[in-house]
Amino acid sequence: MQIRTRLTLQFLLIGAVIMILASFSIYFFSARYRQQAFMERLMAKARITSNLLLEANLNASMIEQLERSNPNKLNSEKIIILNSNDDIIFTTDYKNEIKLRYDVLESIRSGRQVFYQQEEYEIMGSLYRLSVNERFLVLAGAIDNEGKHHLEQLRIILLIVCLISIIIITVAGWMYSGRALKPISDVIKRVEEISVTSLNLRIDEGNAKDEIGKLAATFNKMLSRLEKSFTMQKDFIANASHELRTPLTAINGQLEVLSLKDRTNDEYKTEIKSVLEDTRRIIDLANRLLLIARTSAEGPISFNSNVRVDEILWQTRDELLRFNKNFHINSNIDESVEDESQMTITGDESLLKVAFSNLIENGCKYSNNHTTNVGLNSSANTFRVTFKDNGIGIPEDEKLKVFEPFYRSRNAKTYPGTGIGLSIVKQIIENHNGNIELMSEAGSGTEITVTFHLSRISET
Ligand code: ADP
Repeated sequence: MQIRTRLTLQFLLIGAVIMILASFSIYFFSARYRQQAFMERLMAKARITSNLLLEANLNASMIEQLERSNPNKLNSEKIIILNSNDDIIFTTDYKNEIKLRYDVLESIRSGRQVFYQQEEYEIMGSLYRLSVNERFLVLAGAIDNEGKHHLEQLRIILLIVCLISIIIITVAGWMYSGRALKPISDVIKRVEEISVTSLNLRIDEGNAKDEIGKLAATFNKMLSRLEKSFTMQKDFIANASHELRTPLTAINGQLEVLSLKDRTNDEYKTEIKSVLEDTRRIIDLANRLLLIARTSAEGPISFNSNVRVDEILWQTRDELLRFNKNFHINSNIDESVEDESQMTITGDESLLKVAFSNLIENGCKYSNNHTTNVGLNSSANTFRVTFKDNGIGIPEDEKLKVFEPFYRSRNAKTYPGTGIGLSIVKQIIENHNGNIELMSEAGSGTEITVTFHLSRISET
């Protein structure tokens, strides 16, 4: 069932229940009021007739005469007065329409006022005390045609009002739910238009304050993220293909040239060395691409082993120095680092090695003195590692972009590299619940600070 139909039915149900309850209450209280008012009129009749007969000592025919000319005479009015021996001493009920019931007379005798119905008649019985010993039973009965007729009319009016209200509620509910759901229908229509090729489309957020506006805003944010990641993926594939194609084309060219004619052993050796160089580049690139896939989870990952950051740094330094004789890597542990527990985090040793090695290598690669200064310091909740060099630096407008895969700053184009390193480093650090900051000035040098937060720092 559609939400609109369901809402209308709920609307109808609530409205109908309210209307029916209201109508029943109106009818019930009106009926009670009518009966009450009629009882009071009967009582008054009984009292006046008793007074005329017993106190004013008028005789029956005079009383009847008075009654006949009384404009307040009730319809089919009957008055019966009995003495304490249950003998009728006065009656206007000549046709005996009101039957005298023993139980009723007993109740009246005991001092109670009795009201009961006998066919169309409503009868009120009460005790009239003339003196201590003189007690009379008075019964006054009549047919309340007028009151009942009013009630009948009220019933018809209420029924018609109920029916009309239910029809109005149904129509109003249908229109109201249609209007309330219109923004949702609009969102659905718009979403149906959006596909992979039209991720740039957005949904109208309206005032963006109500629930639908918030839903549309959330959806738009998701679309923006999707669009961004689609574009990034497209760029990434294009860049990766380009990076792989360059050395492969070089290998292809070299082998083609080599196959044109016979060469000397030395020439073969030189060409093989060059091809090997290119294949190494391809392997390196493939390894880095694999690393991106491995670290691509957004945000922290839960690792299950504790690692010493300082030890990893020194191992990385030794390995880099072994293969790069011209590198200089200085280290400095700040006084704020008091014991090894401050340098122990939960993480992955091989990933951290990749990150640190990239940062140290960049520092050495992009500076004339091939020197990177590694510093360790800590404060209450954090532990920091800094990588500082006095190299070419990064232009202001490219500082954020260098963390994007394959991005290389314009002043670094003459240096070897693929532009993947920093994006991997960023991911690895974020996987370790850390963050990375870059301070740099073109021509003066670069300082990269990696901060690990206490929540990930081991208790051991
Ligand atoms: P690669 O060094 O292979 O080009 P990275 O991802 O490691 O790739 O770095 C991305 C870019 O950031 C580099 O191309 C360079 O422009 C810039 N960069 C990174 N580290 C430094 C640094 N220490 N000094 C100057 N520029 C740097």
